[in-house]
Amino acid sequence: MNESTRALLIQAIQSRQDEMSHFLEQLISIPTENPPGRSYLPCVSLLERKCREVGLETKIIDVPSGGDYESCPRQCLLAFLGEADRILYFHGHYDVVPASDPRQFLALRKGTKLFGRGASDMKGGLVAMIYAARALKECGIKLNGKIGLTIVPDEETGGRNGSQYLEQIGLLGKNGIGMLTPEPTSGVIWNANRGAISLRVRVGGKSAHVGLHFLGKNAFEHMHQVVTQLLCFKEEVMKKKTCFQIKPEAAKSSILLLGGQCEGGTSFNSVPGECSFTIDRRINPEEDFDGERLKLMEILERLKSSGVPLELEVLQEGSSAGFSEDEPLARSLAESVHSIVGKPSRFEMCPGLLEIRFYGRRNVPAFAYGPGLLSVSHGPNEYVDLRDVYRCAAIYALTALRSLGAV
Ligand SMILES: [Zn+2]
Repeated sequence: MNESTRALLIQAIQSRQDEMSHFLEQLISIPTENPPGRSYLPCVSLLERKCREVGLETKIIDVPSGGDYESCPRQCLLAFLGEADRILYFHGHYDVVPASDPRQFLALRKGTKLFGRGASDMKGGLVAMIYAARALKECGIKLNGKIGLTIVPDEETGGRNGSQYLEQIGLLGKNGIGMLTPEPTSGVIWNANRGAISLRVRVGGKSAHVGLHFLGKNAFEHMHQVVTQLLCFKEEVMKKKTCFQIKPEAAKSSILLLGGQCEGGTSFNSVPGECSFTIDRRINPEEDFDGERLKLMEILERLKSSGVPLELEVLQEGSSAGFSEDEPLARSLAESVHSIVGKPSRFEMCPGLLEIRFYGRRNVPAFAYGPGLLSVSHGPNEYVDLRDVYRCAAIYALTALRSLGAV
């Protein structure tokens, strides 16, 4: 990359720093809590106004409301810079997890840190991606392709009314050559995520007084049978290790977590009439997601047909994704991080679900890198260091230039 173009881009972002921090304060002050999905329209409208102001073409997509969401309408925002069919996507979500205190929606600045719900996950990231596009536009750089901003709701609850809806109508990652998402990656690049299947198992029985226990059916003892089988399966699961980078070594094993939530019985002197517990299966990117899902379901179905009275509730499901560190976009991103942060970046697998999985299904290579810290995201003292927001904007602009090239 031409040194003067690089300097020009960095200069364009530096000159907008105050504006960026002010815009982030405005975004934080809109309480887009999810669940239930509050204040989405004012937030999308503000984002759209900003995208237009910086010269992007925008489109708001209304997500058809369904049962649970009648009172909270959902919208996605698409915004584009440039022409041509090859699109590099910057993808982000504007919903935040509920605040622990309503004061989290009053953005508070202390030195270079900006505190508030969503500062790190990921309204700081949204600001960075919009201002990256702005810098490219202001510097008059004509890319050999387009930048597509995809800004969605509902990421925090699985993406059904956000990314999944865009996928259904064919607007997610369309003509994409790659995707970047500014999740709070704490300085590393996430190139993979595990898949997840989370279930609640309810085991039935019949309640009775301890003195008349022979009239009851003990749900706890039934549950014990189920758990015993699952513990055997867990041994097999844990032998499988991922080749993606994740620390420490123990984090490489595939995961079966039993009993994250468990309930049952009413009193020590009654036969328990019902017990329930959760299963959280996290599947490494190298494993066959559908095959692993089936294995788990078969164990439970076998128990059911042998007479154990159980019912299943699917709490969440999300596929895995993983992209090579040698993808051209990965290289461009890593080089840009190095040149702005001043030290080489590291690739790691994200410990949770990531929306890169929606792009993976379309074979669009996707990576997460953002200004926030995972350790403060979702917590009571969430903040972002504004210097990281400015750096991230420069990194996204340079990555776009490196990977699309200029005409
Ligand atoms: Zn997030």
